[in-house]
Amino acid sequence: MQVWDDVGPGYVRYSAAEAGLAEMGHVAENDAVQSALASRLGDAAERIWPATISSIEFPPCGPHDLGEAAAAKGPAHLAEIRLEGGRTLRCRLVVGADGARSRTRSLGGLRAVGWQYDQRGVVACVRTETPNEVAWQSFLSTGPLALLPVRDGFSNVVWSTTPEIASALEAMGPEEFAAAVNRALSAGGPRGSGGVVGGFASAASRFLFRGQPPFEEFPRVLEYTGAPPKSFPLQMLHSGRYVRPRLALVGDAAHAVHPLAGQGVNLGFGDAKELAAAIAHATKVGCDIGDAGFLAAHYEGPRRTANLAMMGALDSLKAVFGVQMPSFAGLRNLGLQVVNATPPLKREIMAYAMG
Ligand SMILES: Cc1cc2nc3c(=O)[nH]c(=O)nc-3n(C[C@H](O)[C@H](O)[C@H](O)COP(=O)(O)OP(=O)(O)OC[C@H]3O[C@@H](n4cnc5c(N)ncnc54)[C@H](O)[C@@H]3O)c2cc1C
Repeated sequence: MQVWDDVGPGYVRYSAAEAGLAEMGHVAENDAVQSALASRLGDAAERIWPATISSIEFPPCGPHDLGEAAAAKGPAHLAEIRLEGGRTLRCRLVVGADGARSRTRSLGGLRAVGWQYDQRGVVACVRTETPNEVAWQSFLSTGPLALLPVRDGFSNVVWSTTPEIASALEAMGPEEFAAAVNRALSAGGPRGSGGVVGGFASAASRFLFRGQPPFEEFPRVLEYTGAPPKSFPLQMLHSGRYVRPRLALVGDAAHAVHPLAGQGVNLGFGDAKELAAAIAHATKVGCDIGDAGFLAAHYEGPRRTANLAMMGALDSLKAVFGVQMPSFAGLRNLGLQVVNATPPLKREIMAYAMG
């Protein structure tokens, strides 16, 4: 993986080998993940798909009433889900995995707080001139642009930018879009594109930080393929509580983050893993799996700590790369070069990002 600053010579190259690993991670398409999960589920459960929830009735209690109210009514007091089309389901636990605008969250009376970033994320699948096996990301003054390897000469573009630039990118044809990506990724880093001063800074940094992994060039993008580029609003969002009697939120329903480090899905997987362990534990010790007190202790507590730490780190990263003041940008570039020249620090960062 290579990240760099659009307005200076700073860059960092992370490699799996430095961390003693065969690979740092995988870029998996949503459809591939969903079909793998569905085939793993097999016949073990009834799948009702597609389906849309029209309403859910939870046991009557406030969002802060953890455990006692539900326990007093006994496990027979179930959540009742009504689907569009009329079917009704009753269960001990509803897992709300319905994204940042979660209806299960609002029907459960759980409140989320956050803010919009005044940026949109433009996503597209592109074809590159040569096969791509590296994640490339440039921090532009308008937001980060990532070119992420998928497979067979295809990559994904995730471009966080202003609403105006996002609209312009969405309107471009396949080759025009590719040219815009190539142009944007061609600036910054140690290429000395910043005139005499920039050239001097690049030469000085090459001298001071010699021995660091060299900066490499990204594979040229030829065109977008499939659906035209599409943009989504970017936001930071966190639900005050992840659980209430008979409900647990996971993934973006509980927290949404800026995509600048590609951590959204990892956080959701972390939630799912912890919740599955909590349910298994409840079953083993004979506890009601929809008991909010149990879920708060065994699921919400540990996940809230992990999620808030990552959310804080991502929001800080976004703020640091959002400052364009030359003196601050100089310090930021120096910081990137220090990281690049310090393998133990890079290993720490990689280990945290890989979970
Ligand atoms: C532009 C952009 C780029 C991103 N890039 C990355 C990246 O590179 N890597 C990464 O890890 N993360 C990325 N993310 C974040 C990632 O997309 C989310 O973290 C992830 O999709 C959250 O998964 P989820 O299953 O919790 O929610 P979602 O993916 O939002 O899925 C929710 C599902 O619930 C369904 N649903 C909603 N309401 C109802 C209802 N009432 N009834 C029935 N079904 C319903 C929806 O149809 C949807 O299928 C990006 C986000 C954006 C906006």
